[in-house]
Amino acid sequence: MKIARLHGFKDICYPETEKLRLVESSITDVFKRFGFSEITIPILELSGVYSTGLGDTTDIVQKEMYTFETKGGEWVSMRPEGTAGVVRAFIENSLYRKSPVTKLYYSGEMFRYEKPQEGRQRSFNQIGAELFGSRDPLADSDIIAMLWLAITELGLSDHVKLELNSIGKPLERERYKESLIEFLSPKKDSLCENCQNRLSTNPLRILDCKTGACREVTSDIPFSIHDHLSEQSREHLDALLFSLREKSIPYRLNHRIVRGLDYYTDTVFEVTTDKLGSQNAVAAGGRYDLLVERMGGPQTPAVGFAMGVERIMLLLEKTGTRRNSPGKKQIVCVIHIGENARGVAVKIADGLRKKGLRVETEYENKSLKSQMRKANRTGATYSVIIGEDELRKDLFSLRNMKTGEEKSFPLKKLADLEGHGDFRKLL
Ligand code: ATP
Ligand code: MG
Repeated sequence: MKIARLHGFKDICYPETEKLRLVESSITDVFKRFGFSEITIPILELSGVYSTGLGDTTDIVQKEMYTFETKGGEWVSMRPEGTAGVVRAFIENSLYRKSPVTKLYYSGEMFRYEKPQEGRQRSFNQIGAELFGSRDPLADSDIIAMLWLAITELGLSDHVKLELNSIGKPLERERYKESLIEFLSPKKDSLCENCQNRLSTNPLRILDCKTGACREVTSDIPFSIHDHLSEQSREHLDALLFSLREKSIPYRLNHRIVRGLDYYTDTVFEVTTDKLGSQNAVAAGGRYDLLVERMGGPQTPAVGFAMGVERIMLLLEKTGTRRNSPGKKQIVCVIHIGENARGVAVKIADGLRKKGLRVETEYENKSLKSQMRKANRTGATYSVIIGEDELRKDLFSLRNMKTGEEKSFPLKKLADLEGHGDFRKLL
C-alpha cells in the first residue's frame, strides 16, 4: 500500500505554517476591530446542509463535494465552503435570539474535488465573515470595507481589484435568466460543453465562464441584469456605491459578476488579481437575504464573504510583499560548552522563555562551531554563551549575531532582563 498524500492535498511545513498564521492573524485582527467574533463549525455535515444551502445546480454541489455514506447510513459531505455551515449553526444555536445583529468569522480547511493546479487545491484554507440581521446597504458597505482593510493591511491593495454587481432578487433574476436563455440558445453550439449544460441548469454561470469561446458569445449580450432590477434593488445598490465612495474604497461595477452560488441576493462582489493566472479570485462574497429561511431559520437578512488563504499567500509571494516574512519573534540561542555548562544553559533557556523570548538550545554536547552554525541557521539575533571560563567566573558572554560583537556580563544580570529589547541595551 502506498503511503502518500491525496492528489491535490497539501502539507504545510515550517516556515510556510508561520506565514499562514501571520496572514490569518493579520486578517482576523481586522475582523475583530469590526466587532466580529469567531465561530468554529464541523468539517463534516449532512450533505443536505450544502445541497439546500448552496443549491442543487451549483458546480460545488454537482461536481466538487467529497460525499460519502457513514456506517450509520447517513450521507455526509466534507465542507466545501463555510457559509452553509455557519448558517446551520446560527439557526441551531438560536444565535438570532441573542442580539439583532450577529457578526461571525471562521477560518479553516475546505474540500473540493477539483482539478488541482497552482492556486487550486482539493483542500485549502478559507477565512470568511458573515453578518446576520441587517438588510441595510451600510451592512454590505461595512463588510466590503472590512475585506478591503484586511487586503490593505496585508499590503496587497495595489495588486488586486474589487468588482461588484447587483443580481437582484430571484424573481428579477428569473426574468433575466429567461432573456439570457433566449439570447444564448441559438448560439448553444459555440458554448463550451459545461456551459451547454448550464444553459438549462444555471445560465447565469455562463457569464462567469473563463473559456474564450464562451467569453466571445457573451461579450455582445445587448442587455444586463440591471435592466431587470426592481427599484428596491437599484436603491440598495446606489446606497452601497455611495457609501463605498465615502469610504474611498476603489470599486468597479461589473455586470458580469454573478457568483456561482444560488443563495445570493442583490450585492455580489469579488476581489481578483491579474498575477495568479486563471485562479484570479482571492476573495468573494455577497448578500444572501433568503438563505437563513431556506435552511429552516427565521427570516434573517445576511451578507458575507470568504477569502482564499493559499491564493493570498501566493500573491504575497509573487508580489514580494514584505508582510509575508516569518519570524516576527526575535530568537536567542543559548550555547553551552562542556557538561556542566549544559545544565546551566537549560535553566537559562527556560527562564528566558518564561519572559516571552523564543529560545533555541542544543540538547547534546556539541562544538562551539556547530552551535554557532545552528544559531545562524535559526536566525538568532543574539547568542548567550556559557563556556568553562564563564562558568567559573559566574558570567555569560553575549554575542550580537549581526555585528559579531561579544561581551561578558555577570550571570545574575540575565535574571533582571525583561525581554528581547534589554539585550539590545547590553550590546
Ligand atoms: P474559482 O472561481 O476560482 O473557482 P470560487 O468562486 O469557486 O473560485 P468561492 O467559492 O467564492 O470561490 O471561494 C472563495 C475563495 O476561496 C476564492 O475566491 C478563492 O480564493 C478560494 N478558493 C476557492 N476554491 C479554491 C481551491 N480549489 N483552491 C484554493 N483556493 C480556492
Ligand atoms: Mg470554484
